[in-house]
Amino acid sequence: MKIGIDIGGSHVGIGVVDDKGNLVEKIETDISSETTQNLKQYIEKYMQEKVKQYLKKYPSIEVIGVASPGTPQGGTVTALWNLGIEELKVEESLKKVCSLPIIVRNDAKAAAIAEKKFGSLKPYQDAIFLCPGTGIGGATFIDGKLLTPKRYPGMEIGHMIIQKDGKQCACGKKGCFETYASMKQLKKRVIEVLDLPKEIEAKKLLAILKEHQQEEKLQEVILEYLEYLIIGLSNLIDIFEPEAICFGGSFVYFKDILFDRLVTIFEERRYVFNKETLPVLTLATLGNDAGMIGAGERDF
Ligand SMILES: [Zn+2]
Repeated sequence: MKIGIDIGGSHVGIGVVDDKGNLVEKIETDISSETTQNLKQYIEKYMQEKVKQYLKKYPSIEVIGVASPGTPQGGTVTALWNLGIEELKVEESLKKVCSLPIIVRNDAKAAAIAEKKFGSLKPYQDAIFLCPGTGIGGATFIDGKLLTPKRYPGMEIGHMIIQKDGKQCACGKKGCFETYASMKQLKKRVIEVLDLPKEIEAKKLLAILKEHQQEEKLQEVILEYLEYLIIGLSNLIDIFEPEAICFGGSFVYFKDILFDRLVTIFEERRYVFNKETLPVLTLATLGNDAGMIGAGERDF
């Protein structure tokens, strides 16, 4: 058994995962109301307390996995910009309450591992996981193994440049993939063309897209979004030649409006070098729990 911790943009979830990838129990806390200064301490304390409780209740737990936004290296995560946190010493903090092995992973990579081992990427050896959300996270599997460079975790899919002198990205570069094809950018464009209030939740955005989907200006926004997404996909396919590409994060809620259309356009245009055999495009099946489920997997 494992403990899986998922540090998200608005919540921290902690769960107990069995060897088949099932969540036996989970608990989560809302962190959207904590101020940034307190947030770091709050997250550390919450993780320590819940880990202690679970270890007492489930003595067969062997490992603790943590999925976090930002760049994990040696048990510490840096650049958690969406949470306003520069550095989070995850391993050091958890070592104070337990002596088990601790694995700290980027959230998109943890979700990718869960999909590879238990979800929709299970049948494939060469595969890419893509997670369009606030940015675009991702992971690549070659011959069943997660591609893991030595210096940094890599696969910063969201920051490959797809437009010369394009939109300014938070990373400092211009024209990054995620400044055109993240869900955040789609939301921004929808808000602009429909003249909506600035703050809309993903669920509300879905309802709005459904309601207005026949309108020409919205059709244009969706098509433009999908075309940018396809440019990124095309690059990834030509470099890695995956058998399958899986989309996770909130993208899964937009099956009819985004995913089905994406598949149709992609199959029609075949914007890839090897046009005969296209990779399978699929949606993630483990939902929001994927990060928790994949974080502690040691086989990757
Ligand atoms: Zn960037």
